[in-house]
Amino acid sequence: MRIATGTIAHESSTFTPIPTTYESFVEGSALGIVRGQEILDAHRGTNREPAGYLDSAEEHGFELVGLLWTATQPSGPIEASAWSRLKGEFVERLQAAMPVDGGLFDLHGAMVAEGVEDAEGDLLEAIREIMGPDRPIFVTLDLHCNITPQMVEMADVIIPCDNFPHTDLRERGREAADLIVRTLRGEIRPTMSWTQLPQLWVAGQFTGLEPFKSIIARAHDLESQPGILTASVAPGFTWADIEHAGSSVIVIADGDQALADRESRALGEWVFAQREHFDAHMVSFDEAMRAAHAMDSWPAVISDPQDNPGAGTPGDSTGMLRAFLEADLQNALLACVWDPEVAAAATAAGVGAELTVELGGKSIATQGAPVPITAAVEHLWDGKFTVEGPMHAGILEDYGPTAVLRRGGVHVAVMTERSQIYDLEPIRRMGFDPAALGWIGLKSINHFRAAFSRVSDSIHRVEFPSCQPHDARKLPFGRLRRPIWPLDEDARL
Ligand SMILES: [Zn+2]
Repeated sequence: MRIATGTIAHESSTFTPIPTTYESFVEGSALGIVRGQEILDAHRGTNREPAGYLDSAEEHGFELVGLLWTATQPSGPIEASAWSRLKGEFVERLQAAMPVDGGLFDLHGAMVAEGVEDAEGDLLEAIREIMGPDRPIFVTLDLHCNITPQMVEMADVIIPCDNFPHTDLRERGREAADLIVRTLRGEIRPTMSWTQLPQLWVAGQFTGLEPFKSIIARAHDLESQPGILTASVAPGFTWADIEHAGSSVIVIADGDQALADRESRALGEWVFAQREHFDAHMVSFDEAMRAAHAMDSWPAVISDPQDNPGAGTPGDSTGMLRAFLEADLQNALLACVWDPEVAAAATAAGVGAELTVELGGKSIATQGAPVPITAAVEHLWDGKFTVEGPMHAGILEDYGPTAVLRRGGVHVAVMTERSQIYDLEPIRRMGFDPAALGWIGLKSINHFRAAFSRVSDSIHRVEFPSCQPHDARKLPFGRLRRPIWPLDEDARL
């Protein structure tokens, strides 16, 4: 049994000024573009989907045929020439790998290319054309996928991950691979039902808290019912002005389309009825400081969810930087601000030098103005490390040359590459014991919780300036289908 695997993965925001080029895929992550056997070698034992495919391949004795695998930081729609080059090579490699018995693809689900609103649908159509109507195509997706009619038509099985932070990627990969083996052996006949919800869902997706905790528990309950193979609730990715942005429910039954349809509709209706709880509530910095002092549990984590490079923003919003400096916080680390110019200047100046620079705020005016600062270069790091986890455990990351600047009690990590900090290892590489800090500032929505909740129970979400506000009503949509909640109160399923 031979199963093809690979991906072109990207979460594309149509509201960010950061372009996505072919070079973004080559340079934007530690892996770059990998091919063939390299894909399997790079993922074996990590907490990502291909590791789960491999676990299953080893147990069931099938061969995984690596095509092309690449993923880069969330940013704007992929440039047209980059998309045709990447898709072209992917398709060529699949053609050359034929005949295969099926395909397992770890796509993201919220990828947009210039002129192609539904890039996963476009890629899956090309895959289907080569593989024909009968070979199974199974797809795992990020939780933040915008599922489309084209994707549902071209794939036999779609399994978005369940957890946010995404700590179950290897598990979901294993699930998809085990199901494709059973399908190919003729033991099951998966039938998929998709219910698209008329809603944009931004907040309340942390698996450890309500409302998402109960929502995902309900999907898991459904999976234990006779005849149901798998069930998923995908909140979607809001910062994409495309027709099919938003939330979805997928239920897959064994040979019973009517059962899948009935359960998918019922789960969708129940999720849609919870929508008032998906409120992006954030506090002011003053409120967060008061709450942190009242809790008196340190370190306190201040999150800037609206400037999360992991959702496509530049990562150079200056709101939190200005607030930390004005409050003259002590024993504080802001990790991080994206500013390649300042990272290079600090690296050239060396540890111990004093710099006067304009820091951050260089991408777009809505991210706030640059902050004039005179600071000491306290620590330099090449930005390379292996993720400790639990999320993405074992994966290589590369933030590029990173400089820790200090003014008074405030340390700021200035990075060359855009990235969300979701792991404790980079904090150590910046020269800190995470548990010994007083304040940690992070540009992240939820992923940081998987690791940082080990050192902090004092977590505060603060609203700072951003080009991607979390209140969807503030975003200038044009292509999005309507009516849709919360833009339209009259949206109905
Ligand atoms: Zn995600």
